[in-house]
Amino acid sequence: MLLNPSLFLLCGFSRGLRGMAMSTATGTFQLDQPLNYRGGARVHPEDGDHSEVIYEPATGREIGKFLFSGEKEVDLAVQSAQAAFKIWSQKSGMERSSILLEAARIIRERREEIATMETINNGKSIFEARVDIDISWQTLQYFAGLAGSLAGQHVQLPGGSFAYTRREPLGVCAGIGAWNYPFQIACWKSAPALACGNAMVFKPSPFTPISVVTLAEIYNEAGVPKGLFNVVQGGAATGQFLCKHPNVAKVSFTGSVPTGMKIMEMAAKGVKPVTLELGGKSPLIIFSDCVLENAVKGALMANFLTQGEVCSNGTRVFVQREILQAFTKEVVKATQKIKVGDPLLEDTRMGALINKPHLEKVLSFVKQAKEQGAQVLCGGEPYVPDDPKLSNGFYMSPCVLGGCTDSMTCVKEEIFGPVMSILPFDTEEEVLERANNTRFGLAGGVFTRDIQRAHRVVAGLQAGMCFINNYNISPVELPFGGYKMSGFGRENGEAAIEYYSQLKTVCIEMGNVESVF
Ligand code: NAD
Repeated sequence: MLLNPSLFLLCGFSRGLRGMAMSTATGTFQLDQPLNYRGGARVHPEDGDHSEVIYEPATGREIGKFLFSGEKEVDLAVQSAQAAFKIWSQKSGMERSSILLEAARIIRERREEIATMETINNGKSIFEARVDIDISWQTLQYFAGLAGSLAGQHVQLPGGSFAYTRREPLGVCAGIGAWNYPFQIACWKSAPALACGNAMVFKPSPFTPISVVTLAEIYNEAGVPKGLFNVVQGGAATGQFLCKHPNVAKVSFTGSVPTGMKIMEMAAKGVKPVTLELGGKSPLIIFSDCVLENAVKGALMANFLTQGEVCSNGTRVFVQREILQAFTKEVVKATQKIKVGDPLLEDTRMGALINKPHLEKVLSFVKQAKEQGAQVLCGGEPYVPDDPKLSNGFYMSPCVLGGCTDSMTCVKEEIFGPVMSILPFDTEEEVLERANNTRFGLAGGVFTRDIQRAHRVVAGLQAGMCFINNYNISPVELPFGGYKMSGFGRENGEAAIEYYSQLKTVCIEMGNVESVF
């Protein structure tokens, strides 16, 4: 999830955050509006079990509190979506398209504001947050473009009879998101869902509840029927109410493997289709004939975007032995230059991790790696920026581990933080086998100048998203999703349409019924 380099040059339009009291620097942002969205308005939930604090990762400061939605609130959100679905599903593709285009335009116009919100709530650098927002409006534009051309087939049958298929929406879809790309995940799910004529109830991660409500407001402003896109806030229990709701037709989930398994179990009981975008431990294979400078840049892209909290990261960096020393030296040098600190500053390239427990978990992976014999070549320490305002933020220095072996925990488990493991290899055959020796299968990359080897290796990789001589670019036109335990179903590209629509076959008799009775 990820970057489209062409977007780096786009510039935006800035204004204050609506409904939020804030300054442009960390330290004064406060939430002052409800975070649930239902029937075309922000609402306080009708019921809920407990309230949760929202932190600003950059400062460790509380920026608000919100109530986890209960069963009644989830039901009201589903009812609201059902009512809007009746109107929206009757619209033509072109009518839906123009509303989605208008929503894309508004996101683009409010780019700076939404990116700032995302940085404050997630901790990623403003530089990256802007790219996320650009990918988000592009997603809406792309699916707006497809909405007008969604169509069935006409099939001629004997005796002048014929049949046709109708591509129909599923109904109310549930979207459940992770915290690393809050706004973008909501767009990746809602844009194809809405383009196909569905309604959606979305539940963001309780760590990043803020920006998705702005998306709901934007859809509303663009002209969707009130209640078409709703937001319920909460954690596991709220997500369960949503997955089990009899009037939810489909669940699209982004998150960890263990939660994905639970979602699939719940969906199975209701015979509901699911899309699962889960975790990974992807391989990045660097052959000795690569352009070293590009391979080093690729390894950084594969490990340190969004503080390393990226599902598709190529964290197992296999390096052919002939260039192991040279590559390691250069990658460590480049990693040490990454500017860590206040994510709202223009030149920061790595902000704060999502929260304290997660920071501690990532640091404990580094500690365990050392205990298991890995060498910390750089980073892997808590980082305290000079600015006293940031002293309670959740920062760490980006880490490169050398001397790793395939059996180490840091090589087997998803760390979801800025920790790269370097693994030497000798032959193509050997590295392919080792690269595939994992239960995950989200992504994989190869750096080489040998074009035949490049294609041979990606053909052999058990992964849904592969990169040759680059890493972690993900334009919206391309399907994104996993193999093996990294999930199934695809987001983005034309493929996503299959996961948000169903085909109805209609047979038409032009003569008399020939009965067998
Ligand atoms: P998580 O599984 O803890 O939570 C994800 C979402 O599921 C949250 O909204 C959470 O509240 C909800 N949830 C938790 N338990 C639930 C339950 N029992 N029923 C219904 N909903 C429930 O994941 P996370 O920590 O938020 O995100 C990190 C994980 O997400 C990593 O493993 C990462 O690789 C993965 N991820 C995958 C992709 C992808 O596209 N493949 C993208 C981003 C993140």
